[in-house]
Amino acid sequence: MSEPQISIVAPLYNERESFPHLVARLNAVMDASPLRIEVVLIDDGSRDNTAALMQQVALTDDRYHCVFLSRNYGHQIALSAGIASARATEALFIIDGDLQDPPELLTDFYDKYLEGYDVVYAIRKKRKEGVFKRLAYSMFYRLMRSISYVDIPLDSGDFSLISRRVADVLSQMPEESRFIRGMRSWIGFSQIGIEYERDARVAGAPKYSFKMLRKLAYNGIFNFSEYPIKLVTRLGLITFTIAFLYLIQTLIKKYFYGDVPQGFTATLFVIVLFSGVQLIALGLIGEYVLRIFFQTKGRPLYIVKEVIRQKERQPPRPV
Ligand code: UDP
Ligand code: MG
Repeated sequence: MSEPQISIVAPLYNERESFPHLVARLNAVMDASPLRIEVVLIDDGSRDNTAALMQQVALTDDRYHCVFLSRNYGHQIALSAGIASARATEALFIIDGDLQDPPELLTDFYDKYLEGYDVVYAIRKKRKEGVFKRLAYSMFYRLMRSISYVDIPLDSGDFSLISRRVADVLSQMPEESRFIRGMRSWIGFSQIGIEYERDARVAGAPKYSFKMLRKLAYNGIFNFSEYPIKLVTRLGLITFTIAFLYLIQTLIKKYFYGDVPQGFTATLFVIVLFSGVQLIALGLIGEYVLRIFFQTKGRPLYIVKEVIRQKERQPPRPV
């Protein structure tokens, strides 16, 4: 059996409701395509019966290759596990398991790959999500754009097609706090965006909690920007300058006019304000230190519990 040209990679966490839809849509895409395609599904430690459903499909359809992680590691790590186990010779097509990213777009993305692009990323034209979430995303991407040292395209997520060599580089990057869309931009080569309408989730509830989204946003900011640290330095310099000027003014008043400033309230206010500023500064520095702390442990990114890949199974021994 020859190697697949394309791997469609989708991480799944408690996707019992959307799973049947996912498989149906993926089968239709594969059946209609002249390309050799494998599907790599990653179970990110689901607590519902997603893993059982995956086992079933992997055992009956040899185009499916399933990886089961030892626990829930989060979307970015699960995706990294999928990228590492995909065997496509040409490109990897990365989608969400809830069908928010239509797998039918594979042909459009692949056409761009054939034109010579190493990364074809999707740009969300319209999101079918709540106002608050849309606003938060939009603000985040614009903030990232202004402070990041890599050029991360606006409104693009992980939905993309990446070439074999980009996937190899991604798998070689050992960073523990992963922000894949940023890492993908950092890698370079020729990249291009395709606009699409992001669908609503096909079934079930979102698996990304507010806390997880915040973590992702922090990973983006602290892994791809030195701005927070620079901000602290700048803030320190500004504060120092103001304090120094104020000291001089007070000394002049005291020695030339005999006018000692009163103002217990002002003093208190300044103390409280700058204690706050110092704590924020410490926290910002702490974010970087924390990342060093986790990285220096050198732990593996994830642990695989089981892999089901029929094509690699040994043929039954003749009796
Ligand atoms: N997901 C995952 N691990 C997690 C959370 C989510 O693998 O801990 C998967 C989830 O099953 C889905 C994709 O990541 O396929 C995107 O998650 P979700 O739809 O909840 O995020 P949203 O689209 O709301 O940003
Ligand atoms: Mg989703």
